[in-house]
Amino acid sequence: MLPPLATTIAEVRRAVTAARAAGKRVGFVPTMGALHAGHAALIRAARAEAEFVVVSIFVNPTQFGPNEDYSRYPRTLDADRELCAAVGTDVIFHPTPDVMYPAGTRTVVQVTGLQDVLDGPSRPEHFKGVATVVLKLFNIVQPDVAVFGQKDAQQALIIRRMAADLDLPLTVRVHPTVRESDGLAMSSRNRYLDPTQRQNATCLVRALRTAEALVAGGERSVAALEAAMTAVIVPTTGARVDYVRILSADLLEPMEVLDRPALAAVAVFFGLTRLIDNVTLLPPH
Ligand code: AMP
Repeated sequence: MLPPLATTIAEVRRAVTAARAAGKRVGFVPTMGALHAGHAALIRAARAEAEFVVVSIFVNPTQFGPNEDYSRYPRTLDADRELCAAVGTDVIFHPTPDVMYPAGTRTVVQVTGLQDVLDGPSRPEHFKGVATVVLKLFNIVQPDVAVFGQKDAQQALIIRRMAADLDLPLTVRVHPTVRESDGLAMSSRNRYLDPTQRQNATCLVRALRTAEALVAGGERSVAALEAAMTAVIVPTTGARVDYVRILSADLLEPMEVLDRPALAAVAVFFGLTRLIDNVTLLPPH
């Protein structure tokens, strides 16, 4: 049986209230749809901690820039419902933009500092849109636990920070990145890639693995690691580097030497398609 679709705030709240009255914990996975095995893993993780699981499918207009892919972002609701059914979803929240942003909406959420590095400069309004929609979704669903993907590491840090700063009564979990067999991080945007771009897109994960290997061999210079990652991506046909950065894993601050856990993050364009990936680097003992 396909999970029911709630399209209004009242409908999803009714479903959650009934579950809570039955003593169930509520798990929540926010998505933009075009679901793949990465999303499925998040839903399973929510299921492991909660008897009632809500998945939202909402392509949030406020997190896209004017020249980004909002209108052509893949919308595959029927297949998404099948995937949700297969992994155990109790209700899908699928609002329209009007439901989320009625005329007159003015309030936004900003997580300063964390939103200004990595993806921030290329996507200036992005994290404001993300934090605002996620806080709204949290207030609508009121979950006990919400699950996000490490694939979007900066987003996960921002949501964690927001939840702590605003005393949100929920647990934020971050699930490891789910990858294709050749290492490419799964993404709804991978379907934009033509076959050649798809093959070459492994340069992101190869760059990150190169950094891991150098660290395992004792390299601690952030400049050297960033240079080695860049050297993997730049010669790749069709690849255009947006950024290759190593920042502290908790605060996303610049570092010179790998003396504490760090996030190695890359963003690369193939044509109009922008791909991101990351790994955590731990300093050698
Ligand atoms: P999206 O639909 O792209 O907004 O993603 C919804 C959630 O799924 C976010 O928390 C993402 O970080 C997470 N996600 C997307 N791709 C992956 C992946 N390959 N592995 C793990 N989580 C992912």
